[in-house]
Amino acid sequence: MIIAIDGPAASGKGTVARALAAHFRLPHLDTGLLYRAVGAEVLARGLDFSDVPAVARLAASLEVAGLDAEALRTGPVGEAASRVAAIPEVRQALIELQRSFAGQPGGAVLDGRDIGTVIAPEAEVKIFVTATPEARAARRYAELSARGEDVTPQSVLDDIIKRDQRDSSRSAAPLIQAADAVLIDNTALDKAASIARALEIVARRTGAV
Ligand code: C5P
Repeated sequence: MIIAIDGPAASGKGTVARALAAHFRLPHLDTGLLYRAVGAEVLARGLDFSDVPAVARLAASLEVAGLDAEALRTGPVGEAASRVAAIPEVRQALIELQRSFAGQPGGAVLDGRDIGTVIAPEAEVKIFVTATPEARAARRYAELSARGEDVTPQSVLDDIIKRDQRDSSRSAAPLIQAADAVLIDNTALDKAASIARALEIVARRTGAV
């Protein structure tokens, strides 16, 4: 069973994906980490984001094993990720890796922006997780300020709106809800309620409980 979870920044899609993966004992790939790793490397090497061949080479040589999720979850790396993710050559370089993860025997759970539309359009279950920009910014602010990042509620909201805009308007694999995806708007839901709703969706689509 392939489960595709898409949605904008800080929507809680990672929480839903991890919970479904644990529940159904499926491997899970947070595809945002791939773009974050490429973005972090561009920053670390001082490369120019417009140097497409060099940025695409970084993406092509990316090793998934050993990605440090904690270190990659910072605000500046998220911003860099969204910039490299708009480059078609970078997306192309990361497609095979994601498709082979999705296609492994027994299935998998993947979360990102284009899983149900581009990476695994054949997924049995597609869920689009979202919430208002204000609700997402409040969650992200709590997360980043707890890690000691120098942010304000307004700077986090501005960043979320900018990322939504860039992710939705790019020509390569823009963030859109797949026609056959089921929507979870969790603006007024807590984590447990979002996960319960996702489990219901899987049960309705596949019969798996
Ligand atoms: O989900 P996360 O915030 O970690 O993703 C970081 C950035 O990577 C997003 O803003 C988006 O631009 C990009 N991304 C993408 N496609 C995916 C996953 C992430 O374009 N499947």
